[in-house]
Amino acid sequence: MKKIIMIKYGELTTKKDNRNFFIKTLQKNIEEKLLDIKHITTYDYFRMFIECEEKDINKVVEILRNIFGIYEIVICFKLEDKSIDSIFNSALEIMKEIPFKTFKIETNRSDKSYDIPSMEVSRKVGGYILKNISNIKVDVNDPEVLLNIEIRQEAVYIYTKGEKGTLGYPVGTLGKALLMLSGGIDSPVAAYLSMKKGIKLDYIYFESIPHTSIEARNKVIKLANILKKYGSKSNLYVINFTKIQETIYQVGNEEYIITVMRRMMYRIAERLAKKINCNAIINGESVGQVASQTLTSMKVINDVTNYPILRPLCSFDKSEIIEISKKIDTYETSIIPYEDCCTVFVPKHPVINPDIKEVLDIENKFDYESFIKEAIDNALIIKIEEEKEDNIYL
Ligand code: ATP
Ligand code: MG
Repeated sequence: MKKIIMIKYGELTTKKDNRNFFIKTLQKNIEEKLLDIKHITTYDYFRMFIECEEKDINKVVEILRNIFGIYEIVICFKLEDKSIDSIFNSALEIMKEIPFKTFKIETNRSDKSYDIPSMEVSRKVGGYILKNISNIKVDVNDPEVLLNIEIRQEAVYIYTKGEKGTLGYPVGTLGKALLMLSGGIDSPVAAYLSMKKGIKLDYIYFESIPHTSIEARNKVIKLANILKKYGSKSNLYVINFTKIQETIYQVGNEEYIITVMRRMMYRIAERLAKKINCNAIINGESVGQVASQTLTSMKVINDVTNYPILRPLCSFDKSEIIEISKKIDTYETSIIPYEDCCTVFVPKHPVINPDIKEVLDIENKFDYESFIKEAIDNALIIKIEEEKEDNIYL
């Protein structure tokens, strides 16, 4: 018998019409991450199988833990000899390795030409195990170990419970969005949760050189590279925001600087999103976290666009966000203290309930349209590609 990996699909099993597309995307996403490992992937409507050398199995499982669209990752045994004796021997070998007191066998026979019915297989194998391992019994309601036997056309597969996958949908199955990536803790977590919903991401980062540093930009590049392991290749658009910020600072009432600045960010993000075919803008806003994230502020800021804005963290507590950022490996990079363009120009008392008239007065004082155009035309595009995770940006 051969040890292989079986993947049970996630929620995509409910997406009837798209099922083929979902499975193919999942396979493509897995292949992209397994470039360095010799393996063969096969799949059908219900399962995907990865066969590799036994020494690489743990490495593959580790990679699969970060890929969305997987319900369960199962180490399973493939028997090309489908005879009942071969099933007996393999089942016993597997069960001997596991400590348990109660068990149950479940057989599924999709190969209807197999001459023993499922119930009969379960009964026979159960009896064989009872005869060969002492002090155990069958418990059909609440067994400690459930041994599954799947009899398929090409082989028999035997396995016990696997580990839960990351769930979600395969990245790319739900289109593409533009994520506003700052160097902070929140936006990388928002990116992770969006990818979990099958959204492919490109990133936009606003910088204000010389008020913000190249190190701050490199930190964002590093975050995008860490996030790559959950998704795929993407582009990071670096927007030079200096002129816009300095102008707002000169013409604006201090407490409105952040409100106007964020409206400009949304305008630029919307225009870029349209240009690069993104269907939504995503950011790390969380209601109440800072002055610009009160509902009144969010309404005034959001007013500049009709584009869908997704805020995966809107109801999360900071402590919950931090917990996820630690789990996804972005936390340690996020907390490196480089200035963000939002923090450089932050007023002592940013307005909590901005008045739209005041905002429009400020915006009427300069030709922001031409600034926006210039910022987008001059965006620096950084490719976030495979094999670059260890780049020494910091
Ligand atoms: P984060 O921890 O992600 O930096 P934050 O708590 O600092 O978030 P804000 O600075 O108010 O919150 O920003 C809210 C969201 O706006 C961020 O999560 C991010 O999506 C976006 N954003 C803020 N600054 C930038 C920037 N310089 N470039 C791109 N997006 C930004
Ligand atoms: Mg921030």
